[in-house]
Amino acid sequence: MQRTVVCMYDGLGYDYFEQHPLPVMKSMAEAGMLKRGRAVFPTLTNANNISICCGASPAVHGVTTNSYFDEATGTAQFLEDPETILCPTIFQRYRQAGIGSALLTCKEKTLLLVGGDADVAVAAEAPSVEVIASYGSPPPMYSSEVNYWLWEIAIDLLRTRPDIGLIYVHTTDYPMHMWAPEEPESVDHLTRLDELLGQARECAPDTMFLITADHGMNAKNLCVDLRKTCSANGIDLRFCISPVADRLVKHHRGFGGVSYVYLNAESDRTVVREFLQQIKGVEEILGRDEAATRFDLKADRIGDFVVLADRYTVFGDLDGEKEVLPENYRNHGSMYEDDIPLIISGYQGEVPSSDQFAMNYDLTRWLIDRIEAGKGQSAC
Ligand SMILES: [Zn+2]
Repeated sequence: MQRTVVCMYDGLGYDYFEQHPLPVMKSMAEAGMLKRGRAVFPTLTNANNISICCGASPAVHGVTTNSYFDEATGTAQFLEDPETILCPTIFQRYRQAGIGSALLTCKEKTLLLVGGDADVAVAAEAPSVEVIASYGSPPPMYSSEVNYWLWEIAIDLLRTRPDIGLIYVHTTDYPMHMWAPEEPESVDHLTRLDELLGQARECAPDTMFLITADHGMNAKNLCVDLRKTCSANGIDLRFCISPVADRLVKHHRGFGGVSYVYLNAESDRTVVREFLQQIKGVEEILGRDEAATRFDLKADRIGDFVVLADRYTVFGDLDGEKEVLPENYRNHGSMYEDDIPLIISGYQGEVPSSDQFAMNYDLTRWLIDRIEAGKGQSAC
């Protein structure tokens, strides 16, 4: 099985890829396969990262959110329990095939969800004593530098650990939340990431690289608190959850371009739908089954309604009904952040046709097919 690096660049929308020179990444794409692909909806990290980790859609693995509505307590909880993943991850598949794997991530939530089956598991947010001894303390989570630190570990593993057949690198999208593609800080960030990708390729020329992202990023100018807006108009909702909310709220405050709305009673359905429909910033309201079908989600893990924001709006918990956001506010979660690159580079077989790939998780679905085929061969 060819050694593989899965590069999951958090928040690397196609506009970042397109507008920046990225000489290494673009030369790799040119020599291999490049496709303008799509992220899973909602365009948030967990739903997409777990899709990529499983090579499957949320309808199969079940993860539809960063935060979920806990019906027993009536509160929002962070989704961090690996038991919520309903199909094998790529780390489990490598382990079953007898091949070592490594997960390098900025975010502890990724480590908690899928790190248990990786032979090497590093989260910059919560590094072990051994990791700090080997690689130094990670830079702050709210920095570009933390992504460089992570890639330096990937390069070291490529140099020193031939037993590791899969390295999954999951950076943070903090720089994309902070800066649009053309801003100098963004250019610096992508320039450095591209150099590190070049170093990784140089020190492991036989390695295949699968490059993609979990979502893009757009400027937003309005946040609406759907529950408070309904309540101020005499409509009581059971709960509204922003699926984008995770523990790292500094750069997006837990808002996002989608909301899962839970009703107190089935009889509220018509009045709630009609009221939500006329709120500024609401683009479309889908019932549970309709949303599950359209976006390949697991129906019992979303709200009675899935409310889609327009391009410029996010939903979340506020003190009042709405808030105009600062000019530099950038976020994701909506249908407008699903434009992402798919790249295969360095594959030692015949480069597959791009027709086989549409979603970000199709890259790892294809990789999993290679593992399964390899197992068949060794059984013969
Ligand atoms: Zn993300």
